[in-house]
Amino acid sequence: MSPDWLGEPFAFKDNKLSMTRKVHKRLLSEAQEAFPYEYSALLTGRASIITGHIPMPTSTSSMHTFSWDGAAFLGAISAIRKANVQWLGVIHTHPHSPPIPSQRDRTGWHYPSLSYWIVSLASGQPEWSVYQWVDQTFEPRDYTLTEDT
Ligand SMILES: [Zn+2]
Repeated sequence: MSPDWLGEPFAFKDNKLSMTRKVHKRLLSEAQEAFPYEYSALLTGRASIITGHIPMPTSTSSMHTFSWDGAAFLGAISAIRKANVQWLGVIHTHPHSPPIPSQRDRTGWHYPSLSYWIVSLASGQPEWSVYQWVDQTFEPRDYTLTEDT
């Protein structure tokens, strides 16, 4: 059985994955600030609704990789547990490429119940994609934006 802090945002048939507008906006501005470097964050909330995020330190001068420092990751998980919320997903940017999971994204992902978000900043208009890991591959999923709860 998975621990309570590890969410399953795709497990709710009648409730599509969603994110509050506030978090969506914050993520985008932080992602744009980190440009041309990659930005990443953990996404938190309850059930299928993402209501918060924890920015992760950008690994030095990485523009193509998505990796976290172990201590920072454990600190974030501890903060999630203390706040009594759930970890619902991760987000990272592709500063120079489309929002399609890279080979490295596929081999580096170990939490199949969570949502996997990519924001591409490669063109003038930011492009958002979200995926669920199903049968050894990333399947694109829909999401909605909700008002803040
Ligand atoms: Zn990636």
